Amino acid sequence: MSDLETFRAETRNWLEENCPREMRDGAGGEENICWGGRRWTFQSDAQKIWLGRMAAKGWTVPAWPKDYGGGGLSTDEVRVLKAEMRRIGARSPLESFGIWMLGPALLKYGTHEQKLHFLPAIARGEIRWCQGYSEPNAGSDLASLQCKCEDKGDHFLVNGQKIWTSYADQSDWIFVLVRTDPKAAKHLGISFILIDMAAEGVSTKPIKLISGKSPFCETFFDDVKVPKDHAPGVSAIVGEAGRGWDVAKYLLTHEREMIGTGGGGAFVGRGPGEFAAQAIGLENGRLADPMLRAKIAQVEIDGWAFLLTMERMKDEAKAGQGAGAKSSMLKYYGTELNKRRFEAMMDIGGSDGLEWEGERSEDGKLAKSWLRTKGNSIEGGTSEVQLNIIAKRILELPEA
Ligand SMILES: Cc1cc2nc3c(=O)[nH]c(=O)nc-3n(C[C@H](O)[C@H](O)[C@H](O)COP(=O)(O)OP(=O)(O)OC[C@H]3O[C@@H](n4cnc5c(N)ncnc54)[C@H](O)[C@@H]3O)c2cc1C
Repeated sequence: MSDLETFRAETRNWLEENCPREMRDGAGGEENICWGGRRWTFQSDAQKIWLGRMAAKGWTVPAWPKDYGGGGLSTDEVRVLKAEMRRIGARSPLESFGIWMLGPALLKYGTHEQKLHFLPAIARGEIRWCQGYSEPNAGSDLASLQCKCEDKGDHFLVNGQKIWTSYADQSDWIFVLVRTDPKAAKHLGISFILIDMAAEGVSTKPIKLISGKSPFCETFFDDVKVPKDHAPGVSAIVGEAGRGWDVAKYLLTHEREMIGTGGGGAFVGRGPGEFAAQAIGLENGRLADPMLRAKIAQVEIDGWAFLLTMERMKDEAKAGQGAGAKSSMLKYYGTELNKRRFEAMMDIGGSDGLEWEGERSEDGKLAKSWLRTKGNSIEGGTSEVQLNIIAKRILELPEA
């Protein structure tokens, strides 16, 4: 048996013994995610047990080094673990902005002390992070950000506003882009700083969305004193002061990869083919409408082609490392495909698809998911911005 096959057999056994039955329902969707954090209420004992067991094994972040709470697995081993989890329909034990975004940035730019302080706690689901990048006048043009951070000797003083901060009202800490040097050129003079949401002067105001939910907030910093070190040797600033743009861009590649490859809702739930078979019914084993058949086939074929592209990119990347600028390809295609997929499902659902509440529509699950996909191609940088990056960084086209 090869090492990998031995690993597969051991993993299969371990999952069999340790994954609670209730966590093997393959349930995706935002409502079933375990986000962790100080204020997290577990949906069930099984969810808590599952997180505890996977965290102890380092498998909430299987590719991270063992010293920082990870499993230290290779790319191939991570793939085997994911495949074995999929085989039994195991839910992800933990999802978080700490895992998707801050963790990779700390692994690359953090000091050993910062990594030791924050990463194991992220891996155990003890800290929930949110992202303070966008401001009312800085979205696509993020480097225009104005949130001010002054050096006051023994601490930093932060003043300003962020917007569209997902889950700010439920998070424990926030990673924030601040302007530390207003005289420096636009992309310089920005620093990447970590702030405890419980600090005096930090407040949040939820923003209500089209779906009726408020998953994101305005976040205000009013004379917030941030200690220069959160613990001995654990600097509040990640990377060099004034070079936060480098950290920010690197983090964004991980965010975009995550959104494009599924964390933003792509490929969650039933596909259009299965949905159509149930909603409309089959005649002689297939859908009667040839136009609808063709549309569904196209979306599904594009979905498979995209999955293969993702697999190829994973092969090309080293364990624990991201896709770099190619993350913009994943982000662009994955989110636009996800929107097409849900448009197709709405066509199939007809007026029933628009139903907002009630048992039959599972409280408007389809309509709400369809509306949520609209945000996928905006969050983490819009589709237009991704196309600009692809043109410049991948195709190396001259600037217009
Ligand atoms: C669901 C969701 C969750 C989010 N979560 C967070 C979060 O947690 N933290 C956070 O900081 N932010 C978050 N955001 C904000 C998101 O990053 C911004 O909305 C996004 O970067 C776009 O910025 P904007 O909204 O200011 O739009 P603008 O930048 O004003 O863009 C408006 C339009 O102009 C186009 N445009 C702008 N510049 C160009 C250009 N150079 N070339 C071509 N077209 C251009 C854009 O594509 C867009 O269509 C979230 C957004 C959404 C939708």
